[in-house]
Amino acid sequence: MYDNIFELIYIIGLIYASVVRTRYGMRFSRDNVLHRKNEHPLVYVGMALWGIVLFLPLFHIFTTWIDFANYQLPISLSVVGSVIFITGLYSLQRSHVDLGNNFSPTLSIQKQHTLVTEGIYKYIRHPMYLSFWCWAIGQVLVIPNWIAGPPGIIAFYLIYSYRINHEEQQLVEHFGDAYQNYTKSTGRIFPKLK
Ligand code: SAH
Repeated sequence: MYDNIFELIYIIGLIYASVVRTRYGMRFSRDNVLHRKNEHPLVYVGMALWGIVLFLPLFHIFTTWIDFANYQLPISLSVVGSVIFITGLYSLQRSHVDLGNNFSPTLSIQKQHTLVTEGIYKYIRHPMYLSFWCWAIGQVLVIPNWIAGPPGIIAFYLIYSYRINHEEQQLVEHFGDAYQNYTKSTGRIFPKLK
């Protein structure tokens, strides 16, 4: 019975994240791109995997096809996973609102690009990536299946680790000291302790 609650949380989260992503993602236009940085090839591998992994839980929830790969978890861990997952949804929403038109699915500086240092960006530089970490960790604890749960960690690890330095480098190249100074008071995904 509790399993159903966690599965429901995942499905609602998937719908919510899709709505947020579509709503704000639609504002992005390639015509506004001033400079685009090439990604490491493994980022594309991670993205392809991530796109698949997000939907694998639907097989776990609605079919018996991958039941052979189920694992058991204490309810307390699934509750913790749900909290992490929901925190991630909050961070996803905040980051999209605060980044506004500066959002892009690629590493791009846009024609009207402004450096955002307020809202959730006042504390951390990568709240959107924090949200994906929360999603991946939450998925392991909310979807107890070796095929539909843990692979998200690998997928997002590839995206995060092969992208983050390039992204910050591009922002330093464009915003110079302003971004350098911004990094002094913020952490990447956890706030900096004063
Ligand atoms: N890494 C950020 C944003 C992801 S969207 C996060 O996790 O929240 C990716 C785009 O956001 C990139 O094109 C990058 O140039 C832009 N970006 C990242 N941080 C920014 C900031 N503080 N202000 C403005 N644009 C930013």
